[in-house]
Amino acid sequence: MFDLDGLVRQMEEDGMAAVGFSRLDGRLPSSLAHLPYGITLVFALSSPIVAPVADGPTYPYFQHYRAANAFLDSWTLRAAARLERTGYQAMPIAASQSIPPREEYRGLFPHKTAAVAAGLGWIGKSALLITPQWGPRVRLATVLTDCPLPVTEPPVYPGCGACTVCQDCCPAGAIAGVSFRPGMDRESYYDPDKCSKHMKTYQHIGRGAVCGICMANCPVGKR
Ligand code: SF4
Ligand code: SF4
Repeated sequence: MFDLDGLVRQMEEDGMAAVGFSRLDGRLPSSLAHLPYGITLVFALSSPIVAPVADGPTYPYFQHYRAANAFLDSWTLRAAARLERTGYQAMPIAASQSIPPREEYRGLFPHKTAAVAAGLGWIGKSALLITPQWGPRVRLATVLTDCPLPVTEPPVYPGCGACTVCQDCCPAGAIAGVSFRPGMDRESYYDPDKCSKHMKTYQHIGRGAVCGICMANCPVGKR
């Protein structure tokens, strides 16, 4: 018997901001269809570290970003190991993932898909997950499993409305200002190539792997 309540309690005691559960049939690549349940882990970023990123990325932000990813990855590993020990199959999806071809800017499975299905937020005009509590100032990771989970019906969130803050502040012009609708091509509202090329202008900070200006400026959940 898998102790799900115990796992969630330990994650939250350790500093995890939220844990959500989803059923992902029809939203997984065929190679992962045998793992139809998702556990989404949410780590809320430090507000004093994120606030200055409104003007551009900083060294503390890059270091915090890496540490948050490592924290999430350690918990997805532990959760997957516990599930497998109980007889289920489980696959941790890394917080920061990238698979070839690089020019497609895609991972094995988008954390946002499971997070939205778990009712943790919506896809913003910035293409980030927007949570009601922390806005986009979170890092995410996912465990896929065949263990039946207590999936809840996701609540409906109002979304971005008429806000254009992320579109206005993006120095790369990567955000079209279009509200996300399910089934939309990502490129019709967000240009990952423009975003990635702009990030490379911060080579002196974290080898150009972060920007975060749209994330720091989003008014949702701002402290
Ligand atoms: S991370 Fe930076 S470049 Fe990318 S969309 Fe956000 S503001 Fe624009
Ligand atoms: S800045 Fe405004 S439009 Fe952009 S994701 Fe946040 S709420 Fe949505």
